[in-house]
Amino acid sequence: NKHFLPELFRENYPALNHESVYLDSAATALKPQAMIDATLAYYAQNTATTKRSLYQDALQVTATIDKARQNVADLIGANSSAEIIWTRGATESINLITQSYARLLLQPNDEIIVSELEHHSNLLPWLIVAKQTGAKVVKWSSDVNELSSLMSAKTKIVAITQMSNVTGFCPDLATISNIVHQYDAVLVVDGAQGVVHHAINVNLLDIDFYAFSTHKLYGPTGLGVLYGKKALLEQMSVWHGGGKMLKSASFDDFIQEDLPYKFEAGTPNIAGIVGFNAVLEWLKSWDNKQAENYTKQLACYAKSQLNQFADIQFYSVDDSPIITFNINNIHHNDIAILLSEQNIAIRTGELCAQPLMNKLGCHGAVRVSLMPYNNQQDMDKFILELKSAIEILV
Ligand code: PMP
Repeated sequence: NKHFLPELFRENYPALNHESVYLDSAATALKPQAMIDATLAYYAQNTATTKRSLYQDALQVTATIDKARQNVADLIGANSSAEIIWTRGATESINLITQSYARLLLQPNDEIIVSELEHHSNLLPWLIVAKQTGAKVVKWSSDVNELSSLMSAKTKIVAITQMSNVTGFCPDLATISNIVHQYDAVLVVDGAQGVVHHAINVNLLDIDFYAFSTHKLYGPTGLGVLYGKKALLEQMSVWHGGGKMLKSASFDDFIQEDLPYKFEAGTPNIAGIVGFNAVLEWLKSWDNKQAENYTKQLACYAKSQLNQFADIQFYSVDDSPIITFNINNIHHNDIAILLSEQNIAIRTGELCAQPLMNKLGCHGAVRVSLMPYNNQQDMDKFILELKSAIEILV
């Protein structure tokens, strides 16, 4: 029986047991006790390698990693855990696509359509592979109607975020996927922001590649996931060479391992995967839809409070757990520093999305990001201290 009780959920986050207010979850999420306990147990009691040794703890760790892979597949609706590759994060996942898939595929003058909403990590890898191959990166507003007019036989790949880390906007992936596949192009979705807030089903949406970082989903830093359709992953070249990505090796040649291992050279982030598996197991007992609605309500409350400020300009869409704005001519960093003195953590700056910032006509903004573990007291304290900060700064 799943449920979502905000205060109970919040109690699972030890970092919230002091006076500070954490509103920077879009940068990285806080970690639940279940994740901390599992990570500690791995380091304090059951340290062992995976897929290499035969003692009890090593076998147990290998089983946990398999289980984690299956949990990720279930979470995002993948057909098979063989389609789930462990990486260091969303950034590395996207670079794996560009270097092991796109680089082989792209010919001079082929086109990669990239939305203007993208975080640098879903733009720079495309710019790099375009340079390497002579392909072109085509700018797309993220508007569905515009996509149809940009698509052509030259289009090989379309890259879009599930949820913008600046505006919170969630593109209509179902319609986009339809258009992309009419042209036999491949759809790459950056799930770094979306995965924690919105259920995704890569199978139903017919997404070809999906990337996210575990640290934004209550998990450890330094770990990420690349989902790819099996047929695509199979045709991709290996990239990192090293232990356990091969079946056999000599000085003449090697035979690569099957999926998913051919992309996972070297000892993986074992503690990270163990911790993330604990997160995924723990999340199964919470109703995600209720959590999403709760966060939405909290965001609406925050926005209604923020609307009291004269000359506030919002860049984010309504209802989003990401609220981005500027006030008057006040510099966003001045607000961050004054709030920091009151133990309130927010993000300011260009938010790793310079092209989008330019389009929005600003050189930075204040970003407040909410999670189901935030509450109305967090919002009230933030608004109160923001008022004081503005009084000092105007
Ligand atoms: N995409 C989006 C939309 C993001 O918000 C982020 C992280 N800020 C990333 C990609 C990159 O994630 P990471 O830095 O964990 O690789």
